[in-house]
Amino acid sequence: MPIFLLDKISKKYKTHEGDFFALKDVTLSFNSKGLVSIVGKSGSGKSTLLNILLGIERPSSGKLRFNNEDITKLSDKKFSKYHLKDISMIFQHYNLFEELSVKENIILPLLMRGESRNDTNKKAQKYLDEFSLNYLTNQIVKLLSGGEKQRVAIIRALITSPKVILCDEPTGALDEENSQNIMQILAKLSKDILIIHVSHNKKLVQKYSDRIITLKDGQVISDELINKSENLETKLVKTKYSSKWVGLFTKLNLKQNLKKNLFSICSCVFGFASIFLSFGFYSGSQVSQDNALKNNLEVLHASASETTFFEIENSPLSYEKSVRPSLDTIEKQLEDFDNLVVEPDLSYFFSPYPYATYENRVIENFQMIPLYDIALNDYGKDLLVSGNVGTELLTDVIVNEEFVKVLRRNNDDIIDDYINISNSTLISYPTGDYDEPFIKDEYSYSFDLRICGVVKEFSFLNTPKIYYSYPAVKKELSVSYLENISTQTHKPINCLDYIENAKEDDVASNYSVDIFLTSIDSTNSFFNKIKDLKDENSSFQIESKAYEIQQSYKTFISSFSTTLFVFVIIAFLGVNFILGMISLSTFIENKKSSAILTCLGARHYSIQSIYLSENYIVIFISLVFSVLISMLSQTILNSIIENSFSLSNLITIPWLSFLNIPFGLLALVSLVAFVFSTIFTLVPMFIYRHISLSDELRDE
Ligand code: ADP
Ligand code: MG
Repeated sequence: MPIFLLDKISKKYKTHEGDFFALKDVTLSFNSKGLVSIVGKSGSGKSTLLNILLGIERPSSGKLRFNNEDITKLSDKKFSKYHLKDISMIFQHYNLFEELSVKENIILPLLMRGESRNDTNKKAQKYLDEFSLNYLTNQIVKLLSGGEKQRVAIIRALITSPKVILCDEPTGALDEENSQNIMQILAKLSKDILIIHVSHNKKLVQKYSDRIITLKDGQVISDELINKSENLETKLVKTKYSSKWVGLFTKLNLKQNLKKNLFSICSCVFGFASIFLSFGFYSGSQVSQDNALKNNLEVLHASASETTFFEIENSPLSYEKSVRPSLDTIEKQLEDFDNLVVEPDLSYFFSPYPYATYENRVIENFQMIPLYDIALNDYGKDLLVSGNVGTELLTDVIVNEEFVKVLRRNNDDIIDDYINISNSTLISYPTGDYDEPFIKDEYSYSFDLRICGVVKEFSFLNTPKIYYSYPAVKKELSVSYLENISTQTHKPINCLDYIENAKEDDVASNYSVDIFLTSIDSTNSFFNKIKDLKDENSSFQIESKAYEIQQSYKTFISSFSTTLFVFVIIAFLGVNFILGMISLSTFIENKKSSAILTCLGARHYSIQSIYLSENYIVIFISLVFSVLISMLSQTILNSIIENSFSLSNLITIPWLSFLNIPFGLLALVSLVAFVFSTIFTLVPMFIYRHISLSDELRDE
């Protein structure tokens, strides 16, 4: 039975001038041995015929059987099997892998069949000896002569012991001597297998062929039998398939694409590191919000006021006014808190914004903040960066770093320096007497404040501040008598009395009371209380600057995190897109290699895995480097942030645990990177999957 049966095979191409038949109703059969030459003018359809036999081109009509099996519609798996065990091809321009060694080229089909390195090496050695090429075993193919290359190509075609070898002008690029040489080899091989050989060289064809088929315009015009070869029963050989050879090409690609891959690694490292740092910021900022709140002495001070409606006599209108809350209200509102003290607001006499001079220079834009126990305050000690917390004297104060900047000094040389503050309050005391309705009086002071220490506070929205002792000022006001009023009312009235006895809506009350936390531990619950009061829109309100700062910081962080999240996604997609595009471009550049591999019997998935594994290696290296780089950046950025905002560990990359998964972040990023790069690599390659093998392999 013939090994090949062609029944009315036609191949039609669509061209601008209409349909063109490269082959027309070709009916042929081939026995399983002998050297059959196909001749004909250029363009007569010889290569098309071989391509159809090889299975890389489909006939437009007709039947084609190999060992009684239709080979025109082979699945990827059957196609691979056909090429691994039944058929091989030798090309005019060899189609070897120029960058691989001779041995690597010839053992490639065996590796695809899953043979062990040991066996493949033995076989390679045998053939190399037989073809007198053993001196070239480890030579890179690029460096070989044409004759040597064609012999290597023959060994590669032969090594799988195929039943048919197709040769498309195998001697076309060789000189006379080498051509004879190659033809002798083919003739010898044709004693056992079928060799179908396309040639232009009439002399060689006449000398070596058993049968000569002539094509003209896609039709067989003569079929000459020169020597009958006997039939050979085809043995059934079992073949396996293996992807062991993929590594060879991955390595080759990595080497050849060194620059491209370095570029991909750089962009991946950049992308991954920014992802890690973003997550680091996200998780670190949650913790830092609390730290932010705590790195501020002002958390210990707040003030409370109440809003009341006042009716206007003989009018339906009323107006709203802030007043000092009554003791009852305060007690009711703050009954759950042990660690706080409520005191009168002394601002009426002791201004938060006094006239201040330092070394004869006027100092502006700062605020005086009272603290309850400045000298005993352990918390203040924690924040000190220079000096100490001082004593419980009115003249001993602590300043923050922002204030030091206002003075244009350094933390250290400011200690024990003096700032002069002064202020005066003019009073019109209502007597109720018609003749003399007001008693005028005045309270003035001028103090030299000694700077005992400097605290470093969270600098977000922070302002220059001087912290002073509330009890000391209270004591001072309690011994400062208002002379005029005392004399005229015949009872001694001091400034403190004046404030305490002021009516709730009198300016002297400053319409508020001071609240001091005596323990830092109650800040969180205290802030929750502030928030609840604001949410309820209660008439009793607590004002805390530290709370306001914390809220703004939270809003800032969360909007920043959202922006960052968008960037993370863009970075991620970008990185994978780059990877995908790079492997696609490598794939396109190497389309011919893929076509050769396919003809040798390689399966699609193996060819794709060459590019995938190249990407996986790039991703793996990038991950390692991005971990190192993001750790380094984290340290550097944190120290910069700590120095400028007094916020420690704002970026804390959750390496060890993420979403309660150990090493979750690294695992997640790696997983997503691998999945995405697989998609980004395979999808474009899938679209390009149907490259025309025959176009890639055409010698012209
Ligand atoms: P040969 O190998 O005998 O020189 P080919 O088999 O390569 O000839 O080509 C036969 C004819 O088919 C030629 O005229 C060629 O131009 C045409 N042909 C081959 N491939 C294509 C194609 N993909 N599209 C259109 N025409 C083609
Ligand atoms: Mg041709």
